Amino acid sequence: MTDVIGKTISEIKQLISSKQISAREVATLHIEHAKRNDKETNAFICLTEELALKQADAVDKNFASGGELPALGGVPICLKDNICVPDYPTTCGSKILENFKPPYQATSANRLFEAGAVCIGKGNLDEFAMGSSNENSAFSITRNPWNLKKVPGGSSGGPAVAVASGYSSIGFGSDTGGSIRLPASFCGIVGMKPTYGLVSRFGLVAYASSLDQIGPFGNSVEDCALALAVIVGKDPKDSTSIDDPFGKFNTKKYPALDMNFAKSLTGHDGSLKGIKIGVLNDLLGEGLESEVRAATENGIKVFKELGAEVDEVKVDHLDIALPVYYIIATAEASANLSRYDGVRYGARDKDSQDLMSMYMSTRSAGFGAEVKRRIMLGTYALSTGYYDAYYKKAQQVRRLIKEAFDKAFEKYDVLISPTSPTVAFGLGEKTDDPLTMYLSDIATIPINLAGLPGISVPCGFGREGLPIGMQLVGPQLSDARLLTVAHAFEKSVGFASKRSPLATVAR
Ligand code: GLN
Repeated sequence: MTDVIGKTISEIKQLISSKQISAREVATLHIEHAKRNDKETNAFICLTEELALKQADAVDKNFASGGELPALGGVPICLKDNICVPDYPTTCGSKILENFKPPYQATSANRLFEAGAVCIGKGNLDEFAMGSSNENSAFSITRNPWNLKKVPGGSSGGPAVAVASGYSSIGFGSDTGGSIRLPASFCGIVGMKPTYGLVSRFGLVAYASSLDQIGPFGNSVEDCALALAVIVGKDPKDSTSIDDPFGKFNTKKYPALDMNFAKSLTGHDGSLKGIKIGVLNDLLGEGLESEVRAATENGIKVFKELGAEVDEVKVDHLDIALPVYYIIATAEASANLSRYDGVRYGARDKDSQDLMSMYMSTRSAGFGAEVKRRIMLGTYALSTGYYDAYYKKAQQVRRLIKEAFDKAFEKYDVLISPTSPTVAFGLGEKTDDPLTMYLSDIATIPINLAGLPGISVPCGFGREGLPIGMQLVGPQLSDARLLTVAHAFEKSVGFASKRSPLATVAR
């Protein structure tokens, strides 16, 4: 049987269109691979086998009757389990939504399914996407396929591990403060958080609405580009989605690129002449592992060899981005999560004698410790007497951070930093110390506060042979150019075809 595990989108499509294999066989092989190995990795909360086979059969039928293979025709995907798909539970990794089946489908899922994607399963996550290690899931602990004693990174650890283990070709997560880029970095794959508003959030269960953004995981930058091209665009169901992003903004500002991300990659000669890159110096300080520093320095060398001009840059206020984020994100979360009250959604404690005790016991049993911690923090920051001192102040500083980035982008096209100060850490290593855990996102969080696009690309190996990621950041709506720069970097840094042991073992 043709080997399809660990393949890119174009490799899978090529195998199907040359009739070496059917979409159904591709789906079946991925599901079998997941069933055999995911007992150890726990990438999935549930496999969606019936849906996958139905979708694969539709692709095969359309292709057999002379149709074109669509953009993602027959490509196996994993969706983070906070992206709604009807008929299956959308748990958000929480007991409170354990049996919740959404009556509607997320716009991004709609667009993916219309493009022929085949959904293999729903990926594990930190409860309500709150976490950096995936250890906050109420259901199981996801493990890193490079080393099963290590965390995969969070909160979109499930889809990241699905891609890194070869259970699916691409995956989709949500990134509020780094939840796509961090697991991509820890798992040795590419992960992108698009410009805020580029992808509809309709059907994505809200954590912190002004920061949340859906984005892709892939084995290559090109796969992320192809996947992103399918889900971008205005959605009348999400008022924050951007209208005609590239028609209005991008072509004027970045005339060489168009909406077709992948085309802008293939048409690119790989040179970065004329591109100005700023190294975010403040993110190369304390707490950085020496191998991460070395890989970043090597990355800088690669950019220079490609013809880019590289300088060090200081973006003000990055040192206070973390506290600002933890006020804004928790404030929004405390409001968003008030809907889980035992009445409208999900679980309910049926033994309570009155309404108030029903609310309290439902929420007390339904939410895990980290979610409760954040609801309390956020409620406090929004309460009368504290609102001005915390929430309002945090919003003001958020604006300053955004302006500091705007200033840097007057001079630079792309900013770079390590995605994380460390490689994947051990399971249980940081669970008792939330503040240390929060520091894992020090480089990714400012990007969400400013609404910018960011991508993590593998750039080497560190301690214990674990992958290291390089973060590339661009101005708002420069997503296509960012992908082009990331693509040129990926081709030269020499990591592109590396796969985790699980995606390469004899099957
Ligand atoms: N680790 C960060 C948090 O817990 C970011 C999570 C995310 O991006 N969803 O808030």
